[in-house]
Amino acid sequence: MIPDDAMVALRAMLGERLSTGKSDLALHGRSETWHAEMPPDAVCYPKDTAEVAQVMTICARHGVPLIGFGTGTALEGHASAPRGGLTVDFRDMAAVLEIRPEDMLVRVQPGCTREALNTELRATGLMFPVDPGANASLGGMAATRASGTTAVRYGTMRDQVRGLEVVLPDGRVIRTGTLAAKSSAGYDLTGLFVGSEGTLGLITELTLKLHGQPEAVSAAICAFPSTGAAIETVILAIQMGLRPARVEFVDAATAAILNARDGASFDEAPHLLLEFHGSDAAVAEEAERFGELTTEAGGSGYRWATQAEERTRLWTMRHRAYHTILASRPGSTAVVTDVCVPISRMGEAIDRAAAEIAASAVPGPILGHVGDGNYHAILLVDRSDPAELAEAKRLSDGMVAHALDLGGTATGEHGVGLGKLHFMEREHGAGWDVMGAIKRALDPDGIMNPGKLVRQN
Ligand SMILES: Cc1cc2nc3c(=O)[nH]c(=O)nc-3n(C[C@H](O)[C@H](O)[C@H](O)COP(=O)(O)OP(=O)(O)OC[C@H]3O[C@@H](n4cnc5c(N)ncnc54)[C@H](O)[C@@H]3O)c2cc1C
Repeated sequence: MIPDDAMVALRAMLGERLSTGKSDLALHGRSETWHAEMPPDAVCYPKDTAEVAQVMTICARHGVPLIGFGTGTALEGHASAPRGGLTVDFRDMAAVLEIRPEDMLVRVQPGCTREALNTELRATGLMFPVDPGANASLGGMAATRASGTTAVRYGTMRDQVRGLEVVLPDGRVIRTGTLAAKSSAGYDLTGLFVGSEGTLGLITELTLKLHGQPEAVSAAICAFPSTGAAIETVILAIQMGLRPARVEFVDAATAAILNARDGASFDEAPHLLLEFHGSDAAVAEEAERFGELTTEAGGSGYRWATQAEERTRLWTMRHRAYHTILASRPGSTAVVTDVCVPISRMGEAIDRAAAEIAASAVPGPILGHVGDGNYHAILLVDRSDPAELAEAKRLSDGMVAHALDLGGTATGEHGVGLGKLHFMEREHGAGWDVMGAIKRALDPDGIMNPGKLVRQN
């Protein structure tokens, strides 16, 4: 509950931009996946940093929980409000503030989505490459340290954020980083806030790195006799210096679903979907050299193309694969796993996960970003059946435990939210206590996105 005094102060400041409408609350408490709906008590839509700072100050004074909100696409219940409070939705702070082409930098407000930024950049010859599939906000992507299909070449959000403006729980506004390409000046506060999931402060501005739009792009596809053969091919390609911009794995079950529901005509076998960026000559050479490797690995049906229509069709299909898979079991909800392992162990990790899933009653097609060692099983469950949900969680936990044994992580890109909290101690040991100490130093009253990421008191 938000105390009356706090509501009066917030209403006086925000007017119509403070909402307690039922549908607004439900929308902001909902998760894309299996997590239960946990709505806040109110939602606000600030229009600038000064308003965010004022909101923070009022909430801090009254001990009201604050939850940042971008587009609500996070998969682990990140933006839900288990303890109620106020959700700060950055919908109205979505401007591209400044493009600096010579520095290859852009300043944006946190509500700007990655697609809106790329539309704005179209005429500049520059682009922002991080692509988590969903049209997420850049603030949310920084807060979850997102990545996606292009991380194999361009890196994750960790690599793209040059600096931030952050409002701290006590209302102070700080800037982290500079416009300079490097700095040895003290602790890396930018790195601290990237991936902090709104538990330390609210990001109100980002300075992001840009990349040149590739002169040419080629896309390729190939079937493989086994998961191991597909992954070995990727390892060899990377060792040989090929630099694919995307290397996506889909298993035989995913291929079958895409055939049945999205007009694909894949063999029902593991596949790699690839993209290369560069000059005309470079993308042709990389695609051809990759093709030679697929032949050596027993791959079949390798084909590549530079035509935009064919590429667009392939990547549109890949981007909507999550929803296509979800629709393959009508009425189901998903438990989406997100482990990431050293690429050398990825074949064995996927094979083991696939065997466990096959032995259970829960369907779980697997797809992933092979270049990074990150893969997802989309475990489809009937949410009204507690036994199915428990089985999916058992499978998911088993995958995480195995990934940790292999030197990997519980979450390669989706983040901790509520769903991966129970693995934090095992993954980080005493390092998790250090995270708790940092949290207490910046947010002593625990008002920032409570219930997430750090040990709960
Ligand atoms: C179909 C589908 C595919 C996906 N694929 C990928 C993928 O390939 N890779 C990947 O990384 N993710 C993926 N995701 C997950 C999701 O898109 C990312 O986690 C994304 O970064 C969330 O951004 P958002 O704007 O929706 O954030 P939200 O869901 O709104 O918020 C996420 C977290 O960030 C915090 N937050 C939001 N804005 C701020 C702010 N301004 N300041 C401080 N904290 C803030 C919230 O409190 C919350 O903890 C996928 C999701 C879907 C639905």
